[in-house]
Amino acid sequence: MLAEFADGAHGRDCRGSCYQCLRDYTNMAYHSLLDWRLAGELLSILRATDDTSNQHGRQSAELLRDWASNIPPGDVEFWDDLGGTGPAVLFEERVWVAAKGPFEAADAAMSSPRISIVRDAVAANTRGVCDMVFVDDFLLDKAPARVSAMLADFDGA
Ligand SMILES: [Zn+2]
Repeated sequence: MLAEFADGAHGRDCRGSCYQCLRDYTNMAYHSLLDWRLAGELLSILRATDDTSNQHGRQSAELLRDWASNIPPGDVEFWDDLGGTGPAVLFEERVWVAAKGPFEAADAAMSSPRISIVRDAVAANTRGVCDMVFVDDFLLDKAPARVSAMLADFDGA
């Protein structure tokens, strides 16, 4: 079922749920919470497979790009690839922003291997900006303005 949702125009256009996939009148109270991508990611974790990671990476890149495109160009710099680790945004020349999956651990004590690699790329980058924030792509999708507000308040990790 999830593979069908990911196919074609629906996979491209449906941001979480719609009347072609998960929504119907009986679950109207929960429409804003239903998200087949999130379900797929959780399922792949439960199955201990990584088959959604490529698709997930593509979607993260798009969300990050969409979010950055709504910020005045002088305040953000979009990088297609930060040191081989995928897209990142340099926000106000003071903090790097990268996307992470909603179930991906990114705190200092416990990070996924991918997150550690991104942190190393930030440390190795020559722009001299060491602060790094990982933004949940679920939040980037559902509440991009909230991400901008949190970054405006961010004053170093
Ligand atoms: Zn849908």
